[in-house]
Amino acid sequence: MGNLRIAIAGCQHETNTFAPMTAPFEEFVKADAWPGLTKGDDLFETMAGKNLPLAGFVDAAGGGDVQLCPILWCSAEPSSYVSQDAFDRIVRMICDGLRAYAPLDAVYLDLHGAMVTEECEDGEGELLHRVRGVIGHDTPLIASLDLHANVTERMIALADGFSVFRTYPHVDMADTGRRAFELLQRYMGLDRGNMHKAFRKLPFLIPLSAQCTTFEPCKDIYALLPTLENNDVWSMDFAAGFPPADIHECGPAVVCYGRDAGQVERAAERLYRFALDAETRLDNPLLTPDQAIGQAMATTTGKPVVLADVQDNPGAGGSSDTIGLLEALIRNRATGAVLAIINDPGAARAAMSAGVDRMIEIDLGGKSGQPGQVPYHGRFKVENTTDGCFLCTGAMYRGMQANIGPMALLRVGNEDCDVRVIVSSERMQCLDLSIFRHMGIEPERQNILAIKSTVHFRADFDPIAAATLLVEAPGAHPCRLLNVPYRNLRPGVRLEPMGPVHMARQV
Ligand SMILES: [Zn+2]
Repeated sequence: MGNLRIAIAGCQHETNTFAPMTAPFEEFVKADAWPGLTKGDDLFETMAGKNLPLAGFVDAAGGGDVQLCPILWCSAEPSSYVSQDAFDRIVRMICDGLRAYAPLDAVYLDLHGAMVTEECEDGEGELLHRVRGVIGHDTPLIASLDLHANVTERMIALADGFSVFRTYPHVDMADTGRRAFELLQRYMGLDRGNMHKAFRKLPFLIPLSAQCTTFEPCKDIYALLPTLENNDVWSMDFAAGFPPADIHECGPAVVCYGRDAGQVERAAERLYRFALDAETRLDNPLLTPDQAIGQAMATTTGKPVVLADVQDNPGAGGSSDTIGLLEALIRNRATGAVLAIINDPGAARAAMSAGVDRMIEIDLGGKSGQPGQVPYHGRFKVENTTDGCFLCTGAMYRGMQANIGPMALLRVGNEDCDVRVIVSSERMQCLDLSIFRHMGIEPERQNILAIKSTVHFRADFDPIAAATLLVEAPGAHPCRLLNVPYRNLRPGVRLEPMGPVHMARQV
């Protein structure tokens, strides 16, 4: 692809329409576990070596005759709706960048695929529409998507191709950017103009707690993808979807591209049928906090048991401040237990001003306004404090510089238990062992690690865990979908694997 000018930009948001907080523009500007809004040539330095799709695309495009034209990249921690102001401003910046770099030979976008704005339930579809308004329909446009994308007909129509993560935990984000570059190369090569798209939506939703690709049947679905690719079928992908999004086209999809229409359709149908057949095997084994803690306390292997607080995962829009699991640990007189992370800037500030080894009496967590959630009031000993800046070390976030504001390690004051809590000032999913280690805690030496994450933690925590249990405690990220008050799903979609069908509401 000699001397080609390719514009690159990214904007990622995973929208949980049931979450308590929205995403204004400032959420996209600030850094958290991921970099803040970055523009122009700074993108290259900010992205270098990171496990992010745009980094992988840049890496794959480097060294040849490709001239990359960097516009911007931004993301916000998952939450409810993206404000229309934020969406309009970010898309305007991308479109202005495309105009400034014209003429362009192609465009690559690093998108999530499950963004919902205040005015548009298909955020990426609208973004692609506005981008096409600038570059027209003849300029090749390829994007990468998160495994949790809720892919829509409009998105498929507007992009020439998508590459989708194939792992959950997402250890292949950069690899997906590399695959996007390969797909673009093939599309722009000899076969340009002959590419065929195949798209199928599955008729059921899959809760995130049942989507882990380390285990069957999702492991089998993703293992099938590369075996279906060849010289004619270029790209096979399966987006497992993001269920806490009350939109018409919520749910899993098969997304395929290649130069032979018949072969692409046959491969897509095979993948679709395989995923349908997997429905009976999609397991979602959730325990009550008391059940899970009982099992953990009965485990005597000398290794920690991980209790995943799957419904208060900030990486899926949870507030990361519910206290149901914390109260259960205290009630059950757990020992050697550490819970991470409760997002409570006030508690972190109180610990900072009191100082290490001092006692504080505070209201912890429970402040995000969710029904039935109140803070835990109690006495805590401040065991450590940090500035919340630390380098991640796990397979998913390796090299990422977390920057989540003042943090504290608090020991629950009750003498009949041994429970500690890690508190932060910004939300971050607990998916990296460095969160514990930078606070001075060796996770391998604890009995119980109670962590606010659904699946991503597994990449770093499963290797050190005696067992991993999924806990159904309060949170804004529902993992049982049967009682979720959906209004906008398409009628006929099943709410869970083998679950009941969603009925259209009578007006
Ligand atoms: Zn995801």
